[in-house]
Amino acid sequence: MEKLAKFPLTEGPEGDFAFSESAIRVYLRAVNDGFDVAIVGAGPAGCTLGALLAQRGFRVMCFDDEKRPELLVGESLLPTVVDLMRRLGIEERVKAFSQFKPGVAFMHRDGQRLDFLFPDGVLGKTPNYAYNIPRPEYDNLLLERAKELGVEFVKCRAEVEPGTGGRELQLTAATLEAVPQLVGRQPKLLVDSTGRTRLFAKALGLTAERGNRNDVAYFAHYEDFDAQSKVEGQVVLSILDQGWSWRIPLPGRVSVGVVLDHSVAKRHGSTAEERLEAIIESEPILAAAGKGRRRITEVKTYTNYQLISERGHGPGWLAAGDSFGFVDPMLSPGLFMAMHMAELLDRRVFRYGPGILDQADRMSDLLGRVQAEMMDWHRAWGEIIEYFYDGRMFSMYEAGSNLSRVYKKWAFPAMMERHLSRQITRMVSGVATRSRYGRGLLAYSSKHLVWDTKPPEHYAVRAGQAV
Ligand SMILES: Cc1cc2nc3c(=O)[nH]c(=O)nc-3n(C[C@H](O)[C@H](O)[C@H](O)COP(=O)(O)OP(=O)(O)OC[C@H]3O[C@@H](n4cnc5c(N)ncnc54)[C@H](O)[C@@H]3O)c2cc1C
Repeated sequence: MEKLAKFPLTEGPEGDFAFSESAIRVYLRAVNDGFDVAIVGAGPAGCTLGALLAQRGFRVMCFDDEKRPELLVGESLLPTVVDLMRRLGIEERVKAFSQFKPGVAFMHRDGQRLDFLFPDGVLGKTPNYAYNIPRPEYDNLLLERAKELGVEFVKCRAEVEPGTGGRELQLTAATLEAVPQLVGRQPKLLVDSTGRTRLFAKALGLTAERGNRNDVAYFAHYEDFDAQSKVEGQVVLSILDQGWSWRIPLPGRVSVGVVLDHSVAKRHGSTAEERLEAIIESEPILAAAGKGRRRITEVKTYTNYQLISERGHGPGWLAAGDSFGFVDPMLSPGLFMAMHMAELLDRRVFRYGPGILDQADRMSDLLGRVQAEMMDWHRAWGEIIEYFYDGRMFSMYEAGSNLSRVYKKWAFPAMMERHLSRQITRMVSGVATRSRYGRGLLAYSSKHLVWDTKPPEHYAVRAGQAV
């Protein structure tokens, strides 16, 4: 009963004080059965997984450190995320505070522009649009939805330590003590969804494979910054003289970010604010579009671009979302990967119900399969992103335009160009990123169908050099 003393008291009907109904419900549930799963981190991965597990009847709690900074990257979504929103039943609520996104454009410093709108029919059953989201609102909504479905949230920055009794990891005594709902008992499964904190991997000393770029991103929100969208809400990515940039239209503002090599960024001032403003001024595309700009937020800095953990699960734990691995953000796959991994875990592992948690070998086998599939997703995103970084994508575009112009009376070149463009749209939208056919077609086309064009290096994102 001593534990009950930690629950907040609410005012009773006659002005006396009583334990709230929900506190008593949680207490009784925990006393009877404990929790099946404790999720650490209430971002998109943690909340999505929590919501899906609760729907399957798992007793789930989630540690939330309640860090929701006003400014958070991850504002441009892929159409495949709309599928996941629908599964969670939140699309209408997302729509109410977000900007409709009809596609994405790539602008090159030399003036070429590739527009990938999501045309009807090309993405199959997936909607032919996405949203640009104010991130804190989106995260709050996911959390609310998980709560509605029965996940219990606890404000606490959780800590873990090497486990005992067959567990590789466990919650520290201080963490257990801070959470009356756990009543001193370890849950059967711990989930690391702490994002780039990678709490469990660090506690276990797991290594990770890192990408070869040494980039840094600076970003902020602006008013009166021209996004140069062809259709309202279109995200515009630009290959600059010194790196690349994003412009993401949001309700009443534009999110502007620049990504460039550390060594180049340092030449633009000593603070993040100085650097972002100086880089915008020194890049003709951005300087023109941002002539009348007004910055309305602080400037945030992000480093580290690609990472995959050597291992994403072990006895009694698993990692989901960025804590397992993250991809270069150029094509905005982050939230899709985090939420899709949660859905994959649900479909492949937790569909068997809470009893699966007592079958260690089966769990390990199923989790291994999910990890292998996620590794393939990482490889596939890495491959397609590389076409944009090393210039092959723009080279192919130039070759396609040349062919269609020279052979304009022939139907085949135009058909081929349309087919390739549809495949790329399917790949960058997350619908067919892993498709063997699409990957093969891109590899073949970039090698054998590119004549009389500037070399890919001409179009490449330059690393580590200022112009
Ligand atoms: C420059 C840049 C641009 C990006 N742009 C995009 C984009 O346009 N679109 C897109 O989809 N993705 C983008 N991403 C990626 C995206 O932000 C991430 O992939 C996504 O946020 C991952 O979600 P997550 O739930 O795994 O982790 P997070 O969103 O990081 O959530 C982790 C949560 O865990 C909490 N936490 C951490 N430690 C603890 C603890 N010990 N106890 C309790 N809570 C804890 C954190 O406070 C946080 O709330 C971008 C990334 C970068 C770096």
